[in-house]
Amino acid sequence: MNSYLEISRLTKLYGTTRALEDVNLRVERGNVLALLGPNGAGKSTLFGCLLGLTRRTSGNILFQGQPFTDAARARFGYVAERVSLYPQRTVAENATFFVRLKGQPVAEVEQQLERVGLQHARNRQVRQLSKGMLQRLGLAIALCGRPELLVLDEPFNGLDPALLDTLQSILCEENERGATLLISTHTMSAVEPLATHVAILLQGRLAASGTIQELRAKHGEGDSLEAIYHRIARQQHETEGVFA
Ligand code: ATP
Repeated sequence: MNSYLEISRLTKLYGTTRALEDVNLRVERGNVLALLGPNGAGKSTLFGCLLGLTRRTSGNILFQGQPFTDAARARFGYVAERVSLYPQRTVAENATFFVRLKGQPVAEVEQQLERVGLQHARNRQVRQLSKGMLQRLGLAIALCGRPELLVLDEPFNGLDPALLDTLQSILCEENERGATLLISTHTMSAVEPLATHVAILLQGRLAASGTIQELRAKHGEGDSLEAIYHRIARQQHETEGVFA
């Protein structure tokens, strides 16, 4: 049977820089995958290839057994690490514009702004927003249209503890209604309660992947995700000289 998402032998070169090398990864519908790795490991590049924003050098990406189409991508929600919006326009104007651009119902904008706690700022210009508020606006836009796949690049950056809690709850709700989540992060303690699966990229190569239970059984029963991550990175460094 086909996986929901299947990445095979994915390689991406930027000139002579090997951002991704021979990455194989399967994601099933309803999984919450935490994509971990140090700076420059290739996490954003992998998301870029997946979403068609970055041209892959070689390899294949299949969605429900088929090559990706723009129609399939319209069912995805993406929150970039750096959210690009129109600074002079208001929160509500930006949200409406980008949701319409994605072909999603703008009627949902107010509800999603409320959900991420930005309703009170709906008439503020985007240039006046804090980093955390920008992150939330990006999320509100991505949530419109009930995406079946949500891809979040470093969603926990810049959030205070209360907002982090809100974001975790929202992501849980999205997963409970059936959405598959791909989350890249350095904040392992934040993703650990949500993640069903983990993939660890080190210098563009997949160093480990599996369910959290599988990784624990192999690399450290009872340990936190962060402890397991560091152990795998250290082992890789010792055997192959990969630095994490
Ligand atoms: P971070 O945790 O810092 O966000 P990351 O894991 O997302 O890092 P990527 O941004 O995917 O890593 O970068 C992987 C590699 O590809 C790095 O060596 C980076 O310098 C390189 N790279 C990324 N984008 C480009 C680009 N547009 N042109 C050239 N090299 C790039």
